[in-house]
Amino acid sequence: MGVNFTVAQSQRLRELDVDSKVQNKIFETAEEREKEFKAIEAVAISGLKEKWIDYRYRTRIPDIGILEQKLVKALTGIGFVQVITPIIMNRALLQKMTITSEHQLTKQIFWIDNNKCLRPMLAPHLYYILKDLLRLWEKPVRIFEVGPCFRKESSGSEHLDEFTMLNLVEFGLPEESRMERLHELAALVMTTAGINDYQLVSNESDVYGTTIDIEADMEMGSGAIGPHYLDQFWGITDTWVGIGFGLERLIMKKEGYQTIKKAGRSLSYLNGVRLNI
Ligand code: ATP
Ligand code: MG
Repeated sequence: MGVNFTVAQSQRLRELDVDSKVQNKIFETAEEREKEFKAIEAVAISGLKEKWIDYRYRTRIPDIGILEQKLVKALTGIGFVQVITPIIMNRALLQKMTITSEHQLTKQIFWIDNNKCLRPMLAPHLYYILKDLLRLWEKPVRIFEVGPCFRKESSGSEHLDEFTMLNLVEFGLPEESRMERLHELAALVMTTAGINDYQLVSNESDVYGTTIDIEADMEMGSGAIGPHYLDQFWGITDTWVGIGFGLERLIMKKEGYQTIKKAGRSLSYLNGVRLNI
């Protein structure tokens, strides 16, 4: 009868991102297991230290910061304008997205007071400024924002309570080219993130109705096209395409992390490496 790694050893190997096949290894004796554990741990730690050497001495910017810079460059390079809107959002704007008290997302909102919350998404603020930009700028109007969003999530390896959203929207394009454009924009972001294997899949969303999701093992982003029924609340009638991506999900996929926590804001991990190695 063989012996497995102990619970504590398995936990440690998971933290060190050791392949799950190795984690399930079976040994003939406990002695052999201890020896093997030490060897695997040493190799894993040295791999992580390599990653840190690159971070500390070469890039000096965490992966998610580098990804954000590359995305800003790629999008501004094709005519998109970056905007920065408040992280604090008014209740009235959420309600305009039909996120009223009965809505599923309502339970996920971090309220600051009766009327203000931490934004769970970027779309309401983008809509808010677009109703003026569409009047002031000639079309097509292309804008994007990258920034923190907050949702109370119960748990799971793919959800964070605070994460970084990229939301891009293009308004005023020919109706017949919307789907093709959505594919092009999805491809731009996915290639920039270094992920070439992904699919576009139709899904149902609480807020947007039918969405076109970008999936690579898990959801990387959700896209939609308009005119959309939410547009009427903002007096918007133009055609549009838009996609929201989660930057931590993109990093998680690219780096092969088993948990999104490694890619997110953290006191335990620094650029994907556990501080207690
Ligand atoms: P999911 O179904 O995976 O919970 P969602 O459909 O609720 O995600 P959207 O509202 O479509 O999420 O948000 C756009 C993108 O933001 C998602 O595709 C995902 O990449 C990212 N995202 C959403 N919620 C989280 C979260 N709690 N933690 C990390 N990333 C998230
Ligand atoms: Mg979605």
